[in-house]
Amino acid sequence: MSRFWSKVVHGLTPYVPGEQPRIDGLIKLNTNECPYPPSDKVLQAIAAQTTGDLRLYPDPQAAGLKAAIAHHHGLKAEQVFVGNGSDEVLAHAFMALLRHPAPLLHPDISYSFYPVYARLYGIETREIALRADFSIAVDDYLQAGPNGGIIFPNPNAPTGMALPLAEVERLLAGNPDSVVVVDEAYVDFGAQTAAPLIDRYPQLLVIRTLSKAWALAGLRVGYALGHPDLIEALSRVKDSFNSYPLDRLALAGATAALSDAAWLAQTSARIQASREALSEGLRARGFEVLPSQANFVFARHPAHEGASLAAQLRKQRILVRQFARPQRIADFLRITIGTPQQCEALLNAYDAVAQQAA
Ligand code: PMP
Repeated sequence: MSRFWSKVVHGLTPYVPGEQPRIDGLIKLNTNECPYPPSDKVLQAIAAQTTGDLRLYPDPQAAGLKAAIAHHHGLKAEQVFVGNGSDEVLAHAFMALLRHPAPLLHPDISYSFYPVYARLYGIETREIALRADFSIAVDDYLQAGPNGGIIFPNPNAPTGMALPLAEVERLLAGNPDSVVVVDEAYVDFGAQTAAPLIDRYPQLLVIRTLSKAWALAGLRVGYALGHPDLIEALSRVKDSFNSYPLDRLALAGATAALSDAAWLAQTSARIQASREALSEGLRARGFEVLPSQANFVFARHPAHEGASLAAQLRKQRILVRQFARPQRIADFLRITIGTPQQCEALLNAYDAVAQQAA
């Protein structure tokens, strides 16, 4: 039947189902989920929805959630766009804001969905190499010539390394005519958000998710912050696909989550403490660990090839993420920060693997 497909579909590969296996008893440190349950307020708000309102359509404008997001960031509701996970928000941003004749710039080591969206929407891209130490070189984005926009995660994924706010601002100041999308999926683990720059840089779009720090990957809620003109462009695209991107449970749960900033601060602090302990444990075992400001670490060991180490850890029932491409990162493992017990289990599993190899 594939002869009926559009040309663009042939080039697409479905998301690796192996990352979400249906086997119990595995320690999942491969998809950067939060190891702790969300705030009780979220669960109460969702339970309250199930008593009758589900027969009614949700608010297509998501006004309550937008107000909660705006309040959380000290912005206005017209500076907020919401979607079904930040992946959907990203898709709308590619469609509405990044289709230009000049190439879209993004780091060569970065979120793997950017090239996928670009291909889907027929957008030419240009990869900008990370420095030897895996940091983003802002100067390279200032000297790249005309571009149709810039996108990068901050902290970057899968390196976990963050660009300081002053560097993000330098990039914005040097690209006044390009939309600059800063994907802040992992910003709540100690990095600096670019949200305060929105009022001065109308070309800045900050994209966020509730999947990581807020422990709500299962609810599928993401959002964008930016100048009302950018937000309006996103809304036009969204309304042409689906006027109800978020269901009632997602709206209620996400709104309740954002009202509990104390929960976020506490959970983020726990994860950052575990991140430092895990990084230390890995370094003590000979790993090179990049300095992470995210809820994962990116690490390699000089004595192990990445794919085989990931496979051996899997035999010990621990899942981590390894990327075959680009070659430069093939020996790294991206390890999600779990509970202290899960991090300990990872270190013990590595010790068992190293002992077998000796
Ligand atoms: N951006 C980055 C950099 C990510 O790693 C992810 C999660 N894989 C996303 C966006 C999408 O997250 P979600 O759709 O769950 O909001």
